Amino acid sequence: MTMQAARPLDVLIVGAGIGGLTAAGLLLRGGHKVRVFEQSKVLGEVGAGIQVSANAGHVLDLLGLRAPLRTISFTPKGWLSRGYLSGDVVNEFAIGEDHEIRHGFPYCMMHRADLHGLLVEAVRAQDRQAIRLGATATGYSEMPTGVTLNLDDGSVHHGDVLIGADGVKSVIRRQIVGPDQPVYSGLAAWRGLIPADRLPKDIMGPINTTFVGPGRHMVLYWLGRQKLLNFVAPVETDMEVRESWTVRAPWDDLKADFDGWHPVVQTVIDAADRDACYRWALNIRKPVRNWRSERAVVIGDAAHPTLPFLAQGAALAIEDAGVLSRALATGDAVPDMLERFQNARFDRTARVVDGAARLAKMNHQASEQALRTAMRNGADIARERDGWLYNYNPMTVDF
Ligand SMILES: Cc1cc2nc3c(=O)[nH]c(=O)nc-3n(C[C@H](O)[C@H](O)[C@H](O)COP(=O)(O)OP(=O)(O)OC[C@H]3O[C@@H](n4cnc5c(N)ncnc54)[C@H](O)[C@@H]3O)c2cc1C
Repeated sequence: MTMQAARPLDVLIVGAGIGGLTAAGLLLRGGHKVRVFEQSKVLGEVGAGIQVSANAGHVLDLLGLRAPLRTISFTPKGWLSRGYLSGDVVNEFAIGEDHEIRHGFPYCMMHRADLHGLLVEAVRAQDRQAIRLGATATGYSEMPTGVTLNLDDGSVHHGDVLIGADGVKSVIRRQIVGPDQPVYSGLAAWRGLIPADRLPKDIMGPINTTFVGPGRHMVLYWLGRQKLLNFVAPVETDMEVRESWTVRAPWDDLKADFDGWHPVVQTVIDAADRDACYRWALNIRKPVRNWRSERAVVIGDAAHPTLPFLAQGAALAIEDAGVLSRALATGDAVPDMLERFQNARFDRTARVVDGAARLAKMNHQASEQALRTAMRNGADIARERDGWLYNYNPMTVDF
């Protein structure tokens, strides 16, 4: 496959998150000029785990990241769901080597900051000046010959095409799509990281584990070389919670939310830092079709924010970057290239967004017996992922 541009473009990207950096790395490889504008003054990522399945791995491979990813990530043997009281296994499926054999890239679980760091390097190795920090976009204007990005310091930047990779509260999306209409899902999610040496050695094998019960569940998985345990725990609540990944919440509330749950859950909560438990509101945004204007387009969370229940938010942002880099290599008129990208991506991303929303409360059942029944149905959903979710290569798919 070629990503070498038939006609090199001057590309402006808003946001140095996972989507923006992947796009920047690929577009630089394709021979385009790239400037990335990031509002943060320092590059970094919130402390949480992230999963990269093969569908996104193929894109990172092209940036030379297959081997480095192996060194920063952990590949689990499978997923287990366990009852919240008994700890009995109510559902399981394999990931491990199967995933790599079937889809050509390992299933990788890592610290978000480690993936982010690799992507920053992949961009800077090609152009040390490409990423501009402390650069907050406020909007853009476009004309038939180009696009102008406005920053809050009053500066303006001209280019051929603008990519809004500025996340779930994107200003570029607001300009293209209009005001945001988030609907609270009824769920707020706890998350935190625990150093492995604070936990008993035998607390959990090399398998992702979800404890499932009434009104809540807790997902546990290892990161890196099994040095950190990541927990994410969505809880049904009517409390007012902010949609922010960086808001800390009282450890006592976390403890109370899982009162009486299985001893493994208690051990994990007891080992968590009292002042480093985070809780954020999970909001639903229905898929929208118009991600582009004439010379601007949104990707990643700015285009199709999703609930985390298929673990695909970052993977979709990476896929977008792959398909968009191919579209922009064709050398067609800019609006045509953006249209081609949007058409290629809508159905797939909407399927993930809708699928993740359907899974949101599947784990929440009043009794372990009800859970077993729900899980038997859910097992098919999990298996089906192999057929359509992971079995997709953004760099070779027809578009
Ligand atoms: C706890 C948690 C766990 C998750 N786990 C997974 C997982 O396992 N697998 C998975 O695939 N996904 C996961 N996700 C989702 C995933 O993290 C997001 O979907 C992904 O980060 C989206 O990437 P992005 O580049 O589109 O946006 P972001 O990562 O949000 O990046 C946007 C960037 O734009 C910058 N920005 C914003 N506004 C402006 C502006 N006006 N000007 C300049 N810069 C701006 C921001 O500072 C940021 O750097 C998880 C999410 C959460 C909350």
